[in-house]
Amino acid sequence: MRIVIKVGTSTLAHAGGRLNIRRVELLCKVLSDLKNAGCEVVLVSSGAIGMGVGKLGLPGRPEDMPGKQAAAAVGQCELMYTYDKLFAEYNHTVAQILLTAEDIQDKRRSAYVHDTLEKLLGWGALPVVNENDAVAIDEIGIHTTIGENDSLSAIVAKLVRADLLVLLSDIDGLYTADPRVDPNATLIPEVTAITPEILSLAGGTGSALGSGGMATKLKAAQIATEAGIDMIIANGQQPEALYALLEGKSIGTRFVGGKK
Ligand code: GLU
Repeated sequence: MRIVIKVGTSTLAHAGGRLNIRRVELLCKVLSDLKNAGCEVVLVSSGAIGMGVGKLGLPGRPEDMPGKQAAAAVGQCELMYTYDKLFAEYNHTVAQILLTAEDIQDKRRSAYVHDTLEKLLGWGALPVVNENDAVAIDEIGIHTTIGENDSLSAIVAKLVRADLLVLLSDIDGLYTADPRVDPNATLIPEVTAITPEILSLAGGTGSALGSGGMATKLKAAQIATEAGIDMIIANGQQPEALYALLEGKSIGTRFVGGKK
C-alpha cells in the first residue's frame, strides 16, 4: 500500500510554534512501523513557517512575504533535522522535496518530480514534501505558491498514484456542523460524493500558525477522489490510529475515490 500522509502545523507544533516533541516522536514511530509492515510512505509536512516562528522567538506568523520566506527557511531546517533524527532511530532514511506551483503545473517538471519520488520510494527512503516557502511568492501580480499543503498533498498523492491520502488534522474528521460551536455536531464517517451540501460544511479557517481549515481539506478531497484515490481526514493527536488502516479499518472521515 502506498500512502501519502499530510501533517499540519497544529499537529507538529505547540501553539507558540515550538515542536510538540511527544507528538512528533510518536508520529515518526508509527510511520516507521507502517514502513516496516511494507507500506510505502510519503510525508507531506507543514510546519516550516510555524517552527521558524518558534525557533526565532517571533511574536507570531509574519504577514509580509520576506518575513514568511525567512521564517520558512529557518523552520524547514528544523523540521528536516527533527525528521532525520527521529526516523534514523528506526533505521529509516528521509529525503527532502520542496516544490513550488510551477514544478507541478509544468508537465515536464512534474514528470521529473514523479521520477524522483519513484526512485526514492524504490530505494526505500521516506520522502518528506513541503512547499518551497522560502522562494515561492504570493504577491499582487506574482503567484508561484500552491498556498496550502492540503492541496499539495492531494497533488502529490495523484502524482505518485497513491492508494490512500491521509490528512492528519486537529479535528477528528468532517462534522455535520462546527463541533467547536455546535454540541449536536456529529462526525460523518464516509463521504461518497462531494456535493454542494458537503462543501457547505467547510466553515472557517484553522489555527494561528497553520493556514488550512476544512475548505482546503475538501478541495484536497476533490483532487484526490477525482483521481480515484480515497482520502481520510483524521485527528493527528493520536498517530497510533493509523495502525487501523493496515487492518483495512477506517478512521475519521473517508472520502471514497471515484475509480474504486
Ligand atoms: N508550507 C507551509 C509551512 O510549511 C504550510 C502550509 C499549510 O499550512 O498548509 O509552513
